Amino acid sequence: MIVAAPAVLTAGALVPDTAVVVEGGRVVSVGPQPAADVVLHDGILAPGLIDLQVNGSFGVDFAEAPADEWRDVARRLPETGVTAFLPTLITAPVAELADGLRCAAAAMGGEGARILGVHVEGPFLSAERRGAHDAALFCDPTAPRLDALLSPGTMALITLAPEREGALEAIERLVAAGVVVSVGHSDATAATVGEAADAGARSVTHLFNAQRGLHHREPGVAGAALADSRIVAGLILDGHHVDVRVARIAFAAAPGRIALVTDAIAATGMPPGMYDLGGEPVIVRDTGPPTRADGRLAGAVLRLDDAVARAAAIGVDVAAAIEAASRVPADLLGRTDLGRIEPGAAADLVWLGPDLRARATWVAGELVHGVAG
Ligand code: ZN
Repeated sequence: MIVAAPAVLTAGALVPDTAVVVEGGRVVSVGPQPAADVVLHDGILAPGLIDLQVNGSFGVDFAEAPADEWRDVARRLPETGVTAFLPTLITAPVAELADGLRCAAAAMGGEGARILGVHVEGPFLSAERRGAHDAALFCDPTAPRLDALLSPGTMALITLAPEREGALEAIERLVAAGVVVSVGHSDATAATVGEAADAGARSVTHLFNAQRGLHHREPGVAGAALADSRIVAGLILDGHHVDVRVARIAFAAAPGRIALVTDAIAATGMPPGMYDLGGEPVIVRDTGPPTRADGRLAGAVLRLDDAVARAAAIGVDVAAAIEAASRVPADLLGRTDLGRIEPGAAADLVWLGPDLRARATWVAGELVHGVAG
């Protein structure tokens, strides 16, 4: 298959009037072609989008859903340009999280977007920064708890608070087991975040939300994330979680280190109403973000292609905005075969219209959403 487009995002730049050659589910070459099977008349051919934080969508809350409903979400996420993602489980008893990790094993390998593993957000978090989590379930990362979470073999990323007892040793063990460690729901000082990075942590979860903010004498989690070149920071750019001026500061301070995430909950792609997040109710109104009954922000109803469009709308270079939702998260996960259009990479592609909305999506060279051309 040869797909030609007026602009292709490759090697960090939008290349005009070029084509992508796909064979056996992989990109073979990128360059001008005399004839193409699919000719896109406008917009951008980009790498498929990758979301590091998806609690659910289309009415499904991963925390409560069986494997076939996880697969339903994977089948539909390409509607939003997503070709790979991390189903995310928020704080729950460790045994329930382990059940969810086993459920992921049953859901992986289905149609649609790739499930790259699970993002376990909790329970080793700080009660000072609990967000929408149940702080009564927070605990320290002891060896038996880590055993329980590691044994299913599907945990790709864990969010934890490095100031908890035993956290630095836990980070070393998790990293050795191939799990990406992200600092979040944390009241840590910048110095402690630095120690976490020394131990192998490579990310900060939803920058500025549920963490010690940036003070000029104590940079906190947010300041450490922006200043430390080892760290990739997730950002929920839904118009509610972070002011656009702060989002601009983040992109300017950490170019190539911001990963756009949705933190999508079951209500995403659904009408307003009552939904669950982690098995507990969330209110979704006509406008504004989802909240718990007490008014606390509880995830988002955000599409990743819309997050890219919002980044572009606040002045982020379009190529950089798309890479923040493709190459940056892929690299964080060590998946250098994903998130880019270059020879050898998986042919996970999205055709973004002039408004940057997904019009057509391919996974491994197979059209899984929309009509191309
Ligand atoms: Zn969170």
